Amino acid sequence: MGIFFLLLGKPGAGKGTQARRLSRALGIPHISSGDLFREHQQEETDLGKLAQSYFARGELVPDDVTIRMVRERLGRKDVSGGAILDGFPRTIAQAEALEALMSELGEHLQAVFYIVVDDEILIGRLSGRLVCRQQGHTYHREFHPPQKPGICDLDGSELYQREDDTPQAVATRIRVYGNQTAPLVRYYKDKQLLIEVDGEQPVERVTEEILAALPQREGL
Ligand code: AMP
Repeated sequence: MGIFFLLLGKPGAGKGTQARRLSRALGIPHISSGDLFREHQQEETDLGKLAQSYFARGELVPDDVTIRMVRERLGRKDVSGGAILDGFPRTIAQAEALEALMSELGEHLQAVFYIVVDDEILIGRLSGRLVCRQQGHTYHREFHPPQKPGICDLDGSELYQREDDTPQAVATRIRVYGNQTAPLVRYYKDKQLLIEVDGEQPVERVTEEILAALPQREGL
């Protein structure tokens, strides 16, 4: 049985950063629906073109398209030992689809880590965020600048500002989260899977807390 868990939280809560660190620590893939869409956009696939308009506005891509894309990803070989889901599910319909997908794989979700950060901090994080083209490493103009301006310290690729990190798109993303994604907190609480984590702590501390709380950690 694999280790399957997901990271829930508002945009800018640190899901991507934590998922990358946890993926390295646990040796299981990080599956980010946002990154999958961005890959499709770069490759200019039909799915990438369809996602583009939703993406730029900070709105959610329709459930059926998103679920199909994640289903395909979860079907790949590297997922046999488990996976860390980041940014999926974002609606109740997606959460229900995930449950069905997990049982098709003969697996189940072991935990949902809800990373909590105050809105004011989120806005500050997103508005200064810089992302590397190659692997999605993140920086912040003020709080975590790269050594050489515009260049990723880790892989040397170009840093850019995401088009949905503009003030208007950020406001939409936080509103969309409140309307469509926030109900998942109750949904997973009722299933006794939710573990709340303070996302305002230092990055390393958040990772440690998640690793310590993982139900199957001892078996690793
Ligand atoms: P992220 O990188 O997770 O912030 O996602 C960036 C954008 O991708 C979102 O604002 C949505 O437009 C789209 N997206 C990512 N994940 C999902 C999802 N699970 N459902 C619908 N749209 C998504």
